[in-house]
Amino acid sequence: MNPSLIAASGTVAGPGVWFLLITVTAVGYIVHCVIWPYRSCRKCDGAGRFRSPSGRAWRYCNHCAGRGAQLRTGRRLWTYLKDVSGHTRRHR
Ligand SMILES: [Zn+2]
Repeated sequence: MNPSLIAASGTVAGPGVWFLLITVTAVGYIVHCVIWPYRSCRKCDGAGRFRSPSGRAWRYCNHCAGRGAQLRTGRRLWTYLKDVSGHTRRHR
């Protein structure tokens, strides 16, 4: 075998390594979302309400319904995956 080819295969990561890396990252992200399912609302920055210019009146944020929190995408994915697996298990 050509020595330069062996050196190249040792330094450049193959597609299998990238696949593993992406899988580990995705699983890590979903686990993170299961433990911490919420992020602060983008519209109100986690405050849950908007103050009027006078400062005396305020209204709830329509985006998060005044909770100041939003469910993260990974958590929605986790709930979806759980529903799908539960659904298939029930019908087996
Ligand atoms: Zn909000």
